[in-house]
Amino acid sequence: MANVLFTNVRILDATGAQPYTGDVLIQGNRISRIGRGTRSLPMSGVTVIDGAGATLMPGMVEAHTHLAWTNSKTLDGIQKMPTEEHVLWTAQMAKLYLDHGWTSCVGAATPKPRLDVVIRNAINAGQIPGPRYLAASQEITVTGSLGDDMLPHLPFPEMSFGAVVDGPQAMLKVVRMYLKYGVDQIKLNLSGDNLVPGADARTTWMSDEEVAIACREAKVRGKRVASHARSSESVKQSLRHGVEVIYHASFADEEALDMLEANKDKVFVAPGLSVIIRLLHEGEVVGIDNRTAKNMGYEIELEAAVTSMRAMLKRGIRVLPGGDYGFAWAPHGENAKDLEYFVKYLGLTPMETLISATRWGGQMMMRGKELGEIREGWLADLLLVDGDPLANIGILQDRAKLLAIMKDGEFAKAPEIRSARTRFAA
Ligand SMILES: [Zn+2]
Repeated sequence: MANVLFTNVRILDATGAQPYTGDVLIQGNRISRIGRGTRSLPMSGVTVIDGAGATLMPGMVEAHTHLAWTNSKTLDGIQKMPTEEHVLWTAQMAKLYLDHGWTSCVGAATPKPRLDVVIRNAINAGQIPGPRYLAASQEITVTGSLGDDMLPHLPFPEMSFGAVVDGPQAMLKVVRMYLKYGVDQIKLNLSGDNLVPGADARTTWMSDEEVAIACREAKVRGKRVASHARSSESVKQSLRHGVEVIYHASFADEEALDMLEANKDKVFVAPGLSVIIRLLHEGEVVGIDNRTAKNMGYEIELEAAVTSMRAMLKRGIRVLPGGDYGFAWAPHGENAKDLEYFVKYLGLTPMETLISATRWGGQMMMRGKELGEIREGWLADLLLVDGDPLANIGILQDRAKLLAIMKDGEFAKAPEIRSARTRFAA
């Protein structure tokens, strides 16, 4: 593909620097040069995109993605889609994320064993459009906890969106199976969840022996482990055994915070606020009114999660947006709402939020030296945004404001090439 020069753009590079006007040259799949000021780089022999003052920022990273979730109202509803339709659905969702500016996604679990791996491979082979993707295993769980949807009279494992195992040997076998399939990340459900009757968010389900053997086996193969860990004990269990991606962590107590801080260079936390906030305040769309949501414990969990995340951010722990979109109350594509939640609930500035979604995201994708910032030599994953996300973080929720989306040097959405005009008064 031709080399591309973005000229006359406001560069928000996610290094922490204030935005500045400049030019950015893309050669192949890399950012090759960055110039300050207008017409600072030569324009011959390249496709010139005049941004007319639009913002050029790194592509966003979704920290907790379930591409295969089906926008269902219930957990078991996710699993009921037959495999053939499910593959097609997941491929469509991969495109949808890219079309919304998510150029990378961290897979947080898939409801059928190979769905994530197959979709990742198809994206990487150029068969289907989609973000850079780290493929996850199914949610590995234990009898009675989140992900075990078997009914007493229908004891079929296929009914569950999780892989249900009990005991270290069963754990070892299932972890080895997912490693054989080629996952990038093993997912363990350590805590319960308020969506599960009898296994609420503050309960912890997996034994230390089970977690230990899973983590040891994944590490031997050079793979990472992620945990569903809402309870305080499950956060500590994650850290005791070397889990590096901790999802939720709502009820982390002081000891858990200390342990997180001691591991802050290795660990990523993604609270996945959408489930809590949406069910509490917008649950009516699926027939859950505010009182029911409160009875399910969501008011208590939101307060705990906000307190925990604020404490983590103060301690320099990387907390990232994204998570658990793909339910009826928070459908795929609305993920940028999480950025607004970070500003509104966690008290981050829009700049801090964007750094979390891009720079820290690149680190979470395990490519922290080449992904997530606009720097010379780094990968060309970029968004050209019509407006200023620092003035209004909400514009990233509007697909129409994404004038161009580039992943790996190629346009997923090509801009209209037009002559210079002013987008901003100042
Ligand atoms: Zn999840």
